[in-house]
Amino acid sequence: MKIINKLLNSAVATSVLFASNIALAKEKPFAIVIHGGAGTISKKNFTPEKEKAYRAKLQEAVETGYAILDKGGESLDAISAAINILENSPMFNAGKGAVYTHNEIHELDASIMDGKTRQAGAVAGVRRIENPINLARLVMDESVHVMLSGDGAEEFAKTQGIPLINNSLFDTDSRYESLLRAKEKMKKAEQGKVDYQAAHQALDVEFKVGTVGAVALDKNGNLAAGTSTGGMTNKRFGRIGDSPIIGAGTFAENESCAVSATGHGEYFIRFNVAADICARVKYQGKTIEQAGNEVIHDVLMPAGGTGGVIIVDTKGNMSLPFNTQGMYRGSKSNTTPTYVAIFKDE
Ligand code: ASP
Repeated sequence: MKIINKLLNSAVATSVLFASNIALAKEKPFAIVIHGGAGTISKKNFTPEKEKAYRAKLQEAVETGYAILDKGGESLDAISAAINILENSPMFNAGKGAVYTHNEIHELDASIMDGKTRQAGAVAGVRRIENPINLARLVMDESVHVMLSGDGAEEFAKTQGIPLINNSLFDTDSRYESLLRAKEKMKKAEQGKVDYQAAHQALDVEFKVGTVGAVALDKNGNLAAGTSTGGMTNKRFGRIGDSPIIGAGTFAENESCAVSATGHGEYFIRFNVAADICARVKYQGKTIEQAGNEVIHDVLMPAGGTGGVIIVDTKGNMSLPFNTQGMYRGSKSNTTPTYVAIFKDE
């Protein structure tokens, strides 16, 4: 009898295992990829504690977004939740921790795109919005527009019940020190002691790391992408980068892929980076890896454009190419475990 029971039990166990393997194989793919900015990120600038803190925050963002997808939630909700975590952390250049403008305040940009409908929303140069990605989402869902800027965007926020906060709440000492260093460098350039263009180029790589973004595929096969940033340290004249520009810093369409970018915004705008990657996938049948590598390494790099992107497609493939020393990044899918990395060879 015992033997029969044993046999029966193991038969049941085997069939349960078999059934769950089939279920896993049949499970619709879902995935999330995040970034926390690309640039001059080298190991020598990190204490073990600092590195641990960055990795922990990236992991928290990835896993929060993943949990939403796992429960059958929408990719738009997953990316928003992941981006909120990074916006609320002073370690990244978005929301709290945003860089300073030349006038010593913070001006934030964000955008979001729905791959299913190609609806999109963006805000640029907002000063009193705690989580700009949420306002971008409201622009997409609740307005007839795609992009709102400055005071008008904040007026719209009020109509949506979003509280306006004091700009100084974005302050951090480390970003203020970066501003002072950036101003010092530019002063020398302005006095003609060093080449202005070169100084500006160096500034970009050095002083703007920490833009955040996320792309995701949900169980319904829908893609979404979002990006949020404080832009570039010492920016002036209402400068807007690529992050709130659909096609440049953010793009998603179910026919190709979802992309969020980080890097020297002027180049990402000129080379229409996010949309170009998706176009190569859609019209040239390239994989996201091929398309991403081409644009980041073969197109941007020779032109002098530094940065990186995160990409996901409807099969759950993920790619994270960058041409800088490092990029804060992370991913998780229904078939791959949590991955978090900062430096190049990880
Ligand atoms: N792309 C952002 C901008 O130019 C900055 C960054 O990603 O680091 O505003």
